[in-house]
Amino acid sequence: MSERYYSFSIYCKEHFHHKVYRVALDGHFTCPNRDGKIDTRGCIFCSKKGSGDFSIPFIGQDLKQEDFLYNHEKGKKGEYIAYFQAFSNTYGPIDKLEKLFVSALENEWFCGISIASRPDCFSEEIFALLNRLKKEYPHKFIWIELGLQSVHDSSAIWMRRGYSLSVFEEVVKQIKEIDIPVIVHLILGLPNEDKKAILESIDYINSQAIWGVKLQLLHYLKNTDLGDAYLENKDEFKILNEKEYVDLICACIARLRKDIVIHRISGDGNKEELLAPLWSLDKKKVLNHIHHALKERKITQGMDQEKKYRKVFVEDEKNHFSFFLIQLENHISIKALSILMGVNQYREVEENRFKRKLKDIDIIRHKEINYIIDRRLKGNKEVDKLYNLLKEKGYKIVYMELDRYISQ
Ligand code: SF4
Repeated sequence: MSERYYSFSIYCKEHFHHKVYRVALDGHFTCPNRDGKIDTRGCIFCSKKGSGDFSIPFIGQDLKQEDFLYNHEKGKKGEYIAYFQAFSNTYGPIDKLEKLFVSALENEWFCGISIASRPDCFSEEIFALLNRLKKEYPHKFIWIELGLQSVHDSSAIWMRRGYSLSVFEEVVKQIKEIDIPVIVHLILGLPNEDKKAILESIDYINSQAIWGVKLQLLHYLKNTDLGDAYLENKDEFKILNEKEYVDLICACIARLRKDIVIHRISGDGNKEELLAPLWSLDKKKVLNHIHHALKERKITQGMDQEKKYRKVFVEDEKNHFSFFLIQLENHISIKALSILMGVNQYREVEENRFKRKLKDIDIIRHKEINYIIDRRLKGNKEVDKLYNLLKEKGYKIVYMELDRYISQ
């Protein structure tokens, strides 16, 4: 276990003082993406078992430890989580939901329940049920898991997710109102998503009332539309190699809000069904490589959020136009900024030279901007301090979403 990030095992130690094990359940639900309400094909990567390949059929029976498929000898009573995993576990009649959730909450082997679903499968009735159960079982917990996978519309269309980001956002707000923690699933390795795109998903998660995240690799499985397309034309797909995955996970951890619990950083692929990437089958090795990389690169969760910014001094010789930019260290946004400001030829200058220039030229007062700060640095203690100082001195400061313009 690495303490470089807020892992689920650290959370369990802090809150339960022991390990807990998930027991994946299949409550015989379906999904609007499967039953024709939205689509019949499901998400492009979804298996026939609704992404619940290792789940135990559950109709509310009194489950015993010997029924648990794995980890069945490890835990004691109260050390298991009933994980409603297969398909969309709030998509069904309210009395069915109540029966299943209550059966799991009543079961002394479970310390709580975690319900995986889609944001478009909630209603006032369901919120009322969850709120009531939360009060009726105060010694147990209820979590909700939402498979967002990506914040990008193009990816949502590609994967046939079938709901928009605004639906997700609204439901997260409603779940927060009843004070139930939300875990979000994100997929790394989606076609056309590079590091920048993935980090945009992380930034979005950081801005929402999210308690936990599961980061997982895109798996190409047999008997899925994605698997079939892959088998038909392997060259069409760029499959991440292990090093690329480790690099991405490191970048995500560095960027993720410190208080977000990371429930997973690797996938649990079904050995028999997995077509690619096959290196992911050795989960232990992948985890070791991630932990090693985090240590070697001195990465800790949220470090990009905390202090990683740099100051850049730029001038446009032609127009005697200069600006001072405060941006995230690992983002090259000067080009973006120049586009925003309508500058064609620019160059970065030394801080001292900039300071000297400050005295003799009227820096861009005609545009009334002296300092530009990357909006994502808002809340960073050092940058906020700098902001107040500059403001006191009468400088004009604007916050901008620089990243948005990088690709232009
Ligand atoms: S929402 Fe979940 S269960 Fe439904 S098709 Fe997509 S992955 Fe499968």
